[in-house]
Amino acid sequence: MPTYIVLLGPPGVGKGTQAKLIAETTGLPHVSSGDLFRENIKNETELGKLAQSFMNKGELVPDDVTISMIRGRLSRPDCKGGALLDGFPRTTVQADSLASLLAEFDGKVNYVPYITASETTLIERLSGRWTCKAQGHVFHEKYNPPQRTGVCDFDGSQLYQREDDRAETVTRRIQVYFAQTAPLIAHYREGGLLSEIDGAQPIEKVTADLLVVLRK
Ligand code: ADP
Ligand code: ADP
Repeated sequence: MPTYIVLLGPPGVGKGTQAKLIAETTGLPHVSSGDLFRENIKNETELGKLAQSFMNKGELVPDDVTISMIRGRLSRPDCKGGALLDGFPRTTVQADSLASLLAEFDGKVNYVPYITASETTLIERLSGRWTCKAQGHVFHEKYNPPQRTGVCDFDGSQLYQREDDRAETVTRRIQVYFAQTAPLIAHYREGGLLSEIDGAQPIEKVTADLLVVLRK
């Protein structure tokens, strides 16, 4: 049976950072809806153009296009053994669609680590985040600086600050998270899948806690 992990948590809590580390340990592919949208924006696809208009405002991209993008990604051969989902689902409609989609692959959501941190921490993390142009590796100017300023340690590509990491948009994204994504906490808790993890700890400690959850 394939293994599907849903990393849940607010913007800036460390989902992408942890997903990249956990992907190495588990061998599961890291499927990030935000990265997929940014790839479409970079390649100037129709989906990219549509997504960008929502992302720049800090709003969610509509469910139908998001779900069909994820369906396409999870159907690829590298996801045969499962996937590590980061940033999807973000609404209850997406969560329900995910359940039906995984049933088609004879799978289901197996683990939902829910990473938490205070709003002050989220804002500080997002405002200091630097993202790599090539593969979406993330750094933080204070907490996780690259070896060379402005250059990705992993692939040497240029680092940039995301448009939606500006203060005004960050506030909106956090509001959207509480309104539209936070209901998933109760949804997965009722299903007995949720494990809460303190995301305010240093990166290595969060990874260690995640691995404990995933070994269960
Ligand atoms: P998300 O994918 O949840 O939005 P990221 O993984 O991109 O979050 O992390 C947001 C920012 O916070 C990045 O700059 C990252 O380097 C930094 N960061 C991630 N985890 C931690 C941590 N445990 N402690 C300090 N900074 C962190
Ligand atoms: P973060 O690092 O803050 O968690 P992401 O990179 O996951 O941000 O997402 C950036 C933006 O992409 C979101 O603000 C939203 O506009 C869009 N997006 C990403 N995932 C989804 C999704 N599952 N549903 C709708 N919109 C999404």
